Amino acid sequence: MAIIVQKFGGTSVGSPQKIKAVADRVLRYKNEGHKVVVVLSAMSGETNRLTDLAFQMQARPDTREMDMLLSTGEQVTVALFSMAIKEAGHNAISFLGDQVKILTDSTHTKARIQSIDTEKIFKYLDEGCVVTVAGFQGVDGVGDITTLGRGGSDTTAVALAAAMKADVCEIFTDVEGVYTTDPNICAKARKIDRISYDEMLELASLGAKVLDIRSVAFAKRYNVPLHVRSTFTETEGTWVVEEDKIMEDVIVSGVTYNKNEARVTICGVPDQPGIAAKIFSPISDADINVDMIIQNQDTGAGLTDMTFTVMRIDYVRTMELLKGVAKEIGAKGIYGSDSITKISIVGVGMRNHSGIATTMFNVLANEGINISMISTSEIKISCVIAEKYTELAVRALHDAFVLEKPDLPSEAYELDNPKK
Ligand code: ADP
Ligand code: ASP
Ligand code: MG
Repeated sequence: MAIIVQKFGGTSVGSPQKIKAVADRVLRYKNEGHKVVVVLSAMSGETNRLTDLAFQMQARPDTREMDMLLSTGEQVTVALFSMAIKEAGHNAISFLGDQVKILTDSTHTKARIQSIDTEKIFKYLDEGCVVTVAGFQGVDGVGDITTLGRGGSDTTAVALAAAMKADVCEIFTDVEGVYTTDPNICAKARKIDRISYDEMLELASLGAKVLDIRSVAFAKRYNVPLHVRSTFTETEGTWVVEEDKIMEDVIVSGVTYNKNEARVTICGVPDQPGIAAKIFSPISDADINVDMIIQNQDTGAGLTDMTFTVMRIDYVRTMELLKGVAKEIGAKGIYGSDSITKISIVGVGMRNHSGIATTMFNVLANEGINISMISTSEIKISCVIAEKYTELAVRALHDAFVLEKPDLPSEAYELDNPKK
């Protein structure tokens, strides 16, 4: 008998029929004698719908009220799911984040989990219930509802699995696992059987939204066995594991893209001590996260340019803030673009191989794609390109680094090997 945490994403619970199908699947595990805790997302499209409503009320919605609103999406699915389990003749109970309780800090819309009280969950599991917990939400120290940021139900599931010392955390979604690139934009994408926590952290941080990055960080920290798989098939998915458990020797494991960023340049900046602090302080004071930063060499006249990326939703605000800064420090001007993509290749094998970056630059050059920013770490290389080239770049890089599916057996092969 195992303790299993199973998380089902929005598309998996997108209709009453789908919720019933998930209930049947969960009950199969329960009938095998396992203790099952289920974490659910809101129905697909619901969090977007609620967000749109908020923007019809306020140009910059109040974050506390935003959390009050967004948390309702998951409340609907957990209640419906429990009803489906009961209808099938089993005991079930659903909980919201503050009932469990999932204690977070007070950073509304991007709160961090601090602790989870699992006593109630174990009590109901021992009574034979299927326990369902609303994903993506928690409660802060003063009793206000918080949410964890988009995709946060994965994090709820892994944090619960860690707190309960579960045997496995299964993330059920609309694809069969973690692929070498987004299978929805590259038909040649191949499912990866095993991937290390570190590679998965990079893939997630660079745009592979199949797992929320904080869920991977939790899994790594608490050594939670993580299995990403499809809600709609029985196929074995991808295991996220420690690096030494990976058998395959690959240099590049995946290609990712992130269309959520924008690029900003402040040019003709006096090249003096303290200037970077003057530029970035108002930005961080406004809770805007900066990702890549490039500062040019002094162009000769004691001036330099500074280019950086921010989340696309923060683009307009960043440009506004920079206008003020540019005036204050005597910079020549600002410009930017919110139609960029950060495209990356990731792989632990890059540590021991040279020439990977050059290959990446050549592949993009051969496609006529201009690179406007580059950043590297031990196991990844990222380039900023124009958004319109995203699909082309993903496919070209995927081909170049030979990540595609192994060839299907030809007819002749099948004839020669009738048993295969
Ligand atoms: P859920 O609603 O189940 O949480 P998400 O939409 O958050 O599902 O994540 C699944 C999606 O992630 C897939 O439909 C796929 O388009 C996208 N995706 C992006 N990169 C990858 C990748 N490398 N492997 C698998 N899926 C990926
Ligand atoms: N419903 C939330 C979202 O759409 C959380 C999640 O699905 O993980 O982002
Ligand atoms: Mg998700």
